[in-house]
Amino acid sequence: TRDHGEQEAAPETAEGAAAPGDALVVAENVHKSFGRLEVLKGIDLQVRRGEVMCIVGPSGSGKSTFLRCVNHLEKLTAGRLWVNGELMGYRQKRGRLYELRDSEIAAQRSDIGMVFQRFNLFPHLTVLGNIVEAPVQVKRVPRARATERAMELLERVGLPDKANAYPEQLSGGQQQRVAIARALAMEPSLMLFDEPTSALDPELVGEVLDVMQDLAGGGMTMVVVTHEMGFAREVGDSLVFMDDGVVVESGSPAEVLSNPRHERTQAFLSKVL
Ligand code: ADP
Ligand code: MG
Repeated sequence: TRDHGEQEAAPETAEGAAAPGDALVVAENVHKSFGRLEVLKGIDLQVRRGEVMCIVGPSGSGKSTFLRCVNHLEKLTAGRLWVNGELMGYRQKRGRLYELRDSEIAAQRSDIGMVFQRFNLFPHLTVLGNIVEAPVQVKRVPRARATERAMELLERVGLPDKANAYPEQLSGGQQQRVAIARALAMEPSLMLFDEPTSALDPELVGEVLDVMQDLAGGGMTMVVVTHEMGFAREVGDSLVFMDDGVVVESGSPAEVLSNPRHERTQAFLSKVL
């Protein structure tokens, strides 16, 4: 674990550390290596407020790693990442940058919701328990208020009657909808989805995509790694094709899907479309 105190962190100058423009997410030259394996080789992209960005690309191209960097589950090897005006992992003080401690990073991260491929609900808690856990424990929201809000969210994802069920009693699609409600309970300004329907039986994919579409319609800013090209085309505002740790091309979904400029994009799309 990382726990750099201010004393140990070599302070960098904060010059150029202000978020460029008013995008909600700004990734600037993001690099990530695991040992000698360079997984992200300089990712530059911006996500506007209210934008739904879909990221597609072959397995192993670094999509999950990039999402994990966005919410600082992984520390960048180089580059900078801003979310909602905050430089992830750093605090600015008197013109210098200081690395945040883990507890401070957790606070930055609480502004970002993440939904994974595997619906990782807490198995020993009810649906309601899963949803109120973080608001109560992390944000100190009174339990009664958190419960009220959780019921609203369950309504929104179409599961008001499952409040007292345990995860194992739910289908994969229902669990994933609970996972979305749980992430929303923290009132994030950004939602990240990492192949949220890839582990589902085909007949359950639609109900999860419907919830995501509803969320998008409500103006949520979303970054979605997915192989669901129909969703990307219909709901996405932008489409990014990643391969081998770089953004190969990006643009409007219609543009990228109908008229891919790069050979690598064409080859990938010919396999998934
Ligand atoms: P994708 O989501 O596009 O399939 P990933 O981001 O999961 O790709 O992985 C990209 C590469 O990074 C893969 O080669 C993977 O093995 C490697 N990788 C991911 N996480 C780690 C880790 N914690 N340690 C070492 N290698 C990793
Ligand atoms: Mg992945």
